Amino acid sequence: MTEKKPYNLAETSWVEVKEWLEKTDIVLVPFGSCERHGPHIPLGTDSFHTLEVTVRAAKKADVPYAPMIPYGYSPHHMYKLGQGAGTITLRARTIQNIIYDVAKSLIFHGFNKIIFISGHGSYSQIIEPVLRHIKYKTGAFVAWYKPFTEREIGPLKGILENPPAETPGWHSSEMETSQLMRVRPDLVKMDRAGKELAHAPKWLGPKFTKKDGVRTVQFEGAENITLLMEHYDYSESAVIGNPFRATAEKGEKIFKAQTKHLADFVEEVRKIDVKVTNRDFPDRAW
Ligand SMILES: [Zn+2]
Repeated sequence: MTEKKPYNLAETSWVEVKEWLEKTDIVLVPFGSCERHGPHIPLGTDSFHTLEVTVRAAKKADVPYAPMIPYGYSPHHMYKLGQGAGTITLRARTIQNIIYDVAKSLIFHGFNKIIFISGHGSYSQIIEPVLRHIKYKTGAFVAWYKPFTEREIGPLKGILENPPAETPGWHSSEMETSQLMRVRPDLVKMDRAGKELAHAPKWLGPKFTKKDGVRTVQFEGAENITLLMEHYDYSESAVIGNPFRATAEKGEKIFKAQTKHLADFVEEVRKIDVKVTNRDFPDRAW
């Protein structure tokens, strides 16, 4: 194969898919989202940073990737009825069906190891049953990889400058804004940017606190209560943190660190011995 081989399966022909399968049984599958972020960055923010990490890691680890799914699980990002927020959300069962159909198709053709990738954290609430279903039905290796963000930004120490109270890894804050400045500076409107810190929903009363975008609130020193909140319950502007320290240079460093981690993970997955027991997809029409 030449150096210019396509990594995106949508840009290959079946000839190149066969060539890929002679080389590897791993494929990456990026999942984005189209949801309300801060007023300074686009609805597709998660799609842009997820795809960037996926493409870079695919090249570094020399494995193909599938076309990205541009919508995600974002029910809490719909904002208020008729207010034009623009979020497009898929119901949990729709996404689970997409995950299943994509994985089963790829396994049908000969891939044994499917690594789903998304920087949109809310998928974690709905993926386990379908990933288990695929594993038990096929024997394939399936994993969901979230490039570090939100509370898992430890590996980015020294890159992000917001203090913890300004939640650098959260929705529309320093990290995401830096990533967008790196990949789509034309879509970043810093004149519209604002800083907002997460707070407990006002309807809960003063005994509750909340410091970031997880589904829990803090009460009497414990953070053990999961509540169904809308995103605007804890951030009216959809910013959780401070975007004003964002730079494209930081964005590049973040992508480099995330790419290395994902490519290293792919190398470990390469070593895992996987036996697919059922490759067929007979339920593919219904
Ligand atoms: Zn996001």
